[in-house]
Amino acid sequence: MIDLKKYEIWFVTGSQHLYGEATLRKVDEHSFEIASFLNNSDNIPVQVIFKPVVKTPEEITAICLAANEQKNCVGIITWMHTFSPAKMWINGLTILQKPLLHLHTQYNRDIPFAEIDMDFMNLNQSAHGDREFAHMLTKMNIKRKTVVGHWQDPEAIESIAVWSRVAVTKREMQGMKVVRFGDNMREVAVTDGDKVAAQMKFGFSVNTHPVGDLVQYIHAVSDAHIKSLIEEYNSSYTLMDSIKNGGSKYDSLVEAARIELGIKTFLETGGFGAYTNTFEDLHGMRQLPGIGSQRMMAAGYGYGGEGDWKTSAMVRALKIMASGLKGGNSFMEDYTYHFDPTNPMVLGSHMLEICPTLSSGEVNCEIHPLGIGGKEDPVRLVFNGDPGPAMNVSLVDLGDRFRLIVNLVEGVEVTQQFPKLPTARVLWKPLPSMKEGLKQWLQAGGAHHTVYSQNLTLEYMEDFAEMFDLELVVIG
Ligand code: MN
Repeated sequence: MIDLKKYEIWFVTGSQHLYGEATLRKVDEHSFEIASFLNNSDNIPVQVIFKPVVKTPEEITAICLAANEQKNCVGIITWMHTFSPAKMWINGLTILQKPLLHLHTQYNRDIPFAEIDMDFMNLNQSAHGDREFAHMLTKMNIKRKTVVGHWQDPEAIESIAVWSRVAVTKREMQGMKVVRFGDNMREVAVTDGDKVAAQMKFGFSVNTHPVGDLVQYIHAVSDAHIKSLIEEYNSSYTLMDSIKNGGSKYDSLVEAARIELGIKTFLETGGFGAYTNTFEDLHGMRQLPGIGSQRMMAAGYGYGGEGDWKTSAMVRALKIMASGLKGGNSFMEDYTYHFDPTNPMVLGSHMLEICPTLSSGEVNCEIHPLGIGGKEDPVRLVFNGDPGPAMNVSLVDLGDRFRLIVNLVEGVEVTQQFPKLPTARVLWKPLPSMKEGLKQWLQAGGAHHTVYSQNLTLEYMEDFAEMFDLELVVIG
């Protein structure tokens, strides 16, 4: 979806001119070895770039300035191999605009009890050198992630990998464009909010285009493109008989393909990363986009129904974080409950727009009436979401601040038959329990729209909240 390898994290090691040239050469060698090891890790999806050891306030300020200016640098990792007096770092940290990860590691994993001497003690000081640095970070109230462990420790590497994906997301959100086709659904509160404050906080812009602008793109789609997209539908999904070529509603499938291609061209032409629409504003469209929005999400675009630009932007954000990982992320809505005390769970769905990346099973392409909106029956993908650990993520605007709410859930295997349900569906159990999970969600002011993620963990959302200085409520 996006090329994570084009992004860089800089590995910056701090020291000072106290120990002599021989020691500093060792510091440089060790840092290079660690940076190279991280760069070659299969787990870390970005490049980790070694930077020569910084020893003076001038060098520190220069590297922070350079990181700010390098567009593809999404963050810096700092480590103090020796002591590096932290007043040297004040000016650099004051101007640093990129996310910071403080790696509290040391070159040697173990203490070499038989060989340890004063040379070793002069070289290997991170246990106290990193404390001097971290004290300064705290004193300056600098947001950062702290990762503790030997640099070959898989847990430490995983934490760096998570942070690097979130750092790429932050970089991508700077300048990301969210388009709204029409306004949000009339009278709905949670899908609305302060778009200016959101741009100041996250960097993405939200602007409206009348749906007529989209309709022009839909009308301009060529028959040849429609034909090849329908071939793709045929090879990817099991089509209902009525929408197959020659079926009574084949014309509706043609129209759905036309709409999908119109949306795709509009987003590509305008450089948009996410969009919203609403069934209340479809002038000139014959169907509410169903399969089109589902497939745009699967391609990595953000989507939110009923004008929900915050959830749309968050779908895009989580899609970026999860780029290349197994499993899916989707726009989601808590639809209805199973209050059976022996097996309580939530049925998640939407009237159409659930992303098919949530399913590793069969995906059907169907047509059914929608019941609202007064348009022709929309074509949609229908499937069962996969089981497994997951989470629901909601970003809400509380008026004076944004709040990120996360409910950890357990996705349940769908074994029931739903012969009359015309939508994709997911079943999950909220943690820590059905009642407590729902109660805390309501108390926290969580939205009815969420991003449902199968392949990201709480750590991603913790890093996201830290990087954007967001209030975070975790339920689970
Ligand atoms: Mn909805």
